[in-house]
Amino acid sequence: MTTAPVPPRSLATEAVHAGREDLAELGLHAPPLDLSTTYPSYDSRAEAARIDAFATTGAQPDGPPVYARLDNPTTARFETALARLEGTESAVAFASGMAALTACLMVRISMGLRHVVAVRPLYGCSDHLLTAGLLGSEVTWVDPAGVAEAIRPDTGLVIVESPANPTLAELDLRAIAHSCGEVPLLADNTFATPVLQRPAELGARIVLHSATKYLGGHGDVLGGVVACDEEFARKLRQVRFATGGVLHPLAGYLLLRGLSTLPVRVRAASATAAELARRLEADPRVARVHYPRLGGAMVAFEVQDDPHAVIAGVRLITPAVSLGSVDSLIQHPASISHRIVDEGDRHASGVSDRLLRMSVGLEDVEDLWNDLDAALGAQGPALAGSDVMGGSAQGPGVR
Ligand SMILES: *Cc1c(COP(=O)(O)O)cnc(C)c1O
Repeated sequence: MTTAPVPPRSLATEAVHAGREDLAELGLHAPPLDLSTTYPSYDSRAEAARIDAFATTGAQPDGPPVYARLDNPTTARFETALARLEGTESAVAFASGMAALTACLMVRISMGLRHVVAVRPLYGCSDHLLTAGLLGSEVTWVDPAGVAEAIRPDTGLVIVESPANPTLAELDLRAIAHSCGEVPLLADNTFATPVLQRPAELGARIVLHSATKYLGGHGDVLGGVVACDEEFARKLRQVRFATGGVLHPLAGYLLLRGLSTLPVRVRAASATAAELARRLEADPRVARVHYPRLGGAMVAFEVQDDPHAVIAGVRLITPAVSLGSVDSLIQHPASISHRIVDEGDRHASGVSDRLLRMSVGLEDVEDLWNDLDAALGAQGPALAGSDVMGGSAQGPGVR
């Protein structure tokens, strides 16, 4: 086939075409799903050479795959597509977001760089992995302005999230990347997605996703992915091979499919989220609304009195942890997503006990507002001190 030069393509076009360029040539329209765990090879010398090459370089092996823990062609399509969307050379997929973060830490720790500088808040389990030092790392928590000063000769990573889970606090990634000097900045881009923010363009060397969230987008696949330069990707592939946190090929298939609607889903849900944030802001039952300047489909808000009553009161919105699905979810971070973080650290990083975090889906905005309005029910200053309403089975909040 002759290949004409391809002009640069927009994100929307890449979302539906990246990782699928060879399909027409294969006589296919939908990407093939390869569930093989192993692959036949009558040439064991060639196979030995491929294994040696992988062991020494971590480069994606040429030729037929060897074993599913090394690489998988379906997952490789998802990796190609995600790297294209994030504007990085490569991407490496893992069994979950936490497996992806673990691999990033292990790459650096294995080089003797066990110190991490991190900014709170982070996703609850990311905070826990660093605080507990499960992998032998040591963390220094800092404000964004304190990053440069906290860096030591053995600092292997600077880790941040923006917008952060669950407060939606935003960081100036460009400024932080500058403060990092030679130390790679790892930006968790799960909340923004490449549709709203491409951290690699702002100086982050490593872009991490819980693919479980927006990339999958339908609440039915667990996965993680790291978008980065090929040099770091090679190290990640070697760690993935040795530790086994691989993405299942069916998950790779579903994530590739999820990417094709990512721009449409994120833009539609963000418009609804912005409108809900505006209404919550104007509502006396709500003490404070957190909505990123960047936009996005996440809204967090602090209620005047009982967040548990709101969780108990929703009917259309699903009270559940996780986010980024086509349907709306709400949860109470202090009870669920950030339960594992020490209470004092939670409060110090702005995660109030009255904070609720909502992931806005693709439902109609009026239906979502009606549900929130009813669930907020008897909240607010007008009813403060009224124990009768709080316990009443007739209050709209306890439908
Ligand atoms: C969910 C989440 C993770 C962890 O991802 P899993 O796929 O659940 O392992 C990491 N970072 C952020 C911001 C998340 O929301």
